Order: sequence, then structure tokens, then C-alpha cells
Amino acid sequence: MTPSPPPSSDQRVLLADADAFYVAVARLVDPNGVGKEPLVIVGGSSNRGVVTSASYEARQYGVRSAMPTSQALRLCPKAVVVPVPLDACATKSREIRDALEQFTPIVEPASIDEFYLDLSGTEHLYRESLEATASRIRAAVLDATGLSVSIGGGTTRLIAKLAAKEAKRRPGRRGTGVFVVPPGQEAAFVSGLDLADIPGIGPKFQERLGRYGLRTVQDALPYDVGVLEGWFGKRTGRWLHDRIRGVGSSHVEHRPRTKSLSHEETFSEDLHEDDDLFRELLRLSVRVASDMRRRGYRARTVTVKLRDADFTTRQAGHTLPEPVSADRSIIETAEKLLRRLRRARRTSARLLGVSVSQLVKDEAPAQVSLFGPEDESTLETEKDRTISRMVDDINVKFGRKGIRRGAEVKRKT
Ligand SMILES: [Mg+2]
Repeated sequence: MTPSPPPSSDQRVLLADADAFYVAVARLVDPNGVGKEPLVIVGGSSNRGVVTSASYEARQYGVRSAMPTSQALRLCPKAVVVPVPLDACATKSREIRDALEQFTPIVEPASIDEFYLDLSGTEHLYRESLEATASRIRAAVLDATGLSVSIGGGTTRLIAKLAAKEAKRRPGRRGTGVFVVPPGQEAAFVSGLDLADIPGIGPKFQERLGRYGLRTVQDALPYDVGVLEGWFGKRTGRWLHDRIRGVGSSHVEHRPRTKSLSHEETFSEDLHEDDDLFRELLRLSVRVASDMRRRGYRARTVTVKLRDADFTTRQAGHTLPEPVSADRSIIETAEKLLRRLRRARRTSARLLGVSVSQLVKDEAPAQVSLFGPEDESTLETEKDRTISRMVDDINVKFGRKGIRRGAEVKRKT
């Protein structure tokens, strides 16, 4: 048998996977309704609808994800069917990620409710076992979001994923929601599983494996890589050979979130007059602001970049006490910054840019207080935001020229 390289024992990978995510969020959204129902199905309620997720209680009736809702209701007639609370799910997913990032910056979302974390090298930092860190992470997520996650850990992504399944499988026995495979135990852990447990082995592959009498990992272990390659092809054979020994990649890819949005313009001719520069600034600010709203963000920091004719690049930024999204807030802040840059050096400019950073997701805008009383302490009012959104809507319908601000129109003509 060809020996496989042992996974490097200093890698510490976790997979945090929310428990019955859609159901849990639906319960949080409606604590007195869905929140009190044990039998919950989230998904399409129409004749052709399918189950997105079912509560653990409903699963005991045989209800499964992707099953037609009609079939699910025959199995579990008392279940309450609710649509997927999409916005709340997106918000909760971000909140989970925020909580996880308190422990490591290297977080890779694998789906809306599953995140890989790389905690390599943190043992010294936290002075505790990976289990202990995972338990603290679990508690922190619960505190911050009201959602429970199961966490699996090990030296590779594969092991972490399988361990998370194990953590869910035995909620009663250990009750911790955490299962970590110690370094060196990967092969022993995987050897107890069915081949169908291994991610990537779907029903079709299971059927092929079955033709050779392979159902469990134990069944497949005696065959060396050449035999497996002969049966399933070179790539798949090698892949299977490695997986059943717990060998896989440890690489968790840090995927930064959108950190900033910007628009800049290099002028065909250098601009010298303040009027011209401020007109461009207005245009760029409006573009950045509407771009940001379209992506559902608010920003705390506005930065203006100016490249002088001699290629000196200067920047000025301002961080606001709270995130903003209305044109007015972005424009006013950008204007202050450009004035500051121009005061410091008044020369021709070849490039101007506006960017926003420290972005936060804009929560679902309240449609209530349309032009109602406002809290004077806020930087921008709901009215500002409503106007900006109305302008966005009109621009979507009629193109960007639908509405231009007075100054834009006046100076453009
Ligand atoms: Mg999940």
C-alpha cells in the first residue's frame, strides 16, 4: 500500500455549521408564532414547493430537505409551513460571521450557514485546546445571534466537516455541539464512517462503489491506490484513496468582505477651477452613494483622492460617528474633504476619486416614518434615505439621467 503523507499536525481547522439554520431564523423572526411551534417546515408552500429545511422535530417524521412540501405534509400533517425569511437569514449569516471573526480573521463562508475557520497557531494565543476554543466560539455565536452552531475540528477541511456532522449526530450524548479529531487520529476517525459520509461521494458514485462491494470506508481501505485508480479512473481513484485516510486540504481561504467602494475619474484635461472639481466631485459622490445603496451598504468613512497635475496623489478621509447611505451625507462629507485638500495645495488636478469604506450592511429600511418626526441627533434622516432610494428607483427606470441634482443640471448645461 502506498503510504500517504500524514496531515500536518499544526493545522487547526474548524467548521462551524448552524443548526437547522432556516428554521432557527424563522423562529427568531416570529418568536410568538413559529417560535412556539415544534413542527416547522421552511420552504415553498405551493403545490410545487419543496422543503428548504425542517425542524428536528419534523425530521423525526421523515421530513427532509428538497422533499416536495406536499409529501412532507402527508408525513407530518401538523407541521407549520413558512416561507424562507430571506432577509433575516442574510442578516443572521453576517452576524455569525462577525462573531467568528472575533476569534480569527481567516473565515471562509462555505454556504449561508457554514464557515471554515483557520485557527492554526492560536493554541499559544488562547492557551487552551482546540475543543475549548471551539466551545467558546459556540457560546459567543449563540450570545451574539441567538443561533446555535455545531463545530467540528481537525487538521484538514475534510476532517473538520466530518467532525461537524459527528457533533450534530450526538447532541444528546456529549451535549457540547463540538467534536474535534486530534492530530494523528484522522485515519482512525474516518475508518469508522460510511463512504457516503464523505463529501463528494453522492448517490451515483455510491452506486459505482457498490458494484465493487464498497459501502464503508473499511471496505475500501485494503485496496491500494493502483486498484482504486483502475476501477474509478486515475483522478477519482487517487482522490478516494486519500479521502478514506483523512487526507485533504487544510487551506482555508480568507475571503474578505467588500471593504470599500469607489469611483474615480481621470480628466481628459487637467482641471484647475474649484467649480469644475466640485461638479465632478458631486457626480462621483452620487455614483458611489447609489452604488453602495444598490449593494445594501452604509459607510462610515468617506475618502477623497486628488492627483495633482504633477502626479502628486493626496487623500483626505473622514470617519463619521455612524454609518450613512444618503447622497446628502456622502456629498457633504466629500465636499469638506475636497475643500481641505484644495486649501493645502491649489493646483491643477488630473484625477479625482471618491470612496466609501467601513461598510456595514444596511438593515431593512423602515418604511414607517416617511417624512415623520426625526431624531435630530442622527447624521442623516430617514427622509434623506428615502429621497435617495426614490432617486435610485427613478434612475433604474429611466437611466442615470432620470434625476440629476440641481447643481449637476445647472453646471452640465
Ligand atoms: Mg447548517
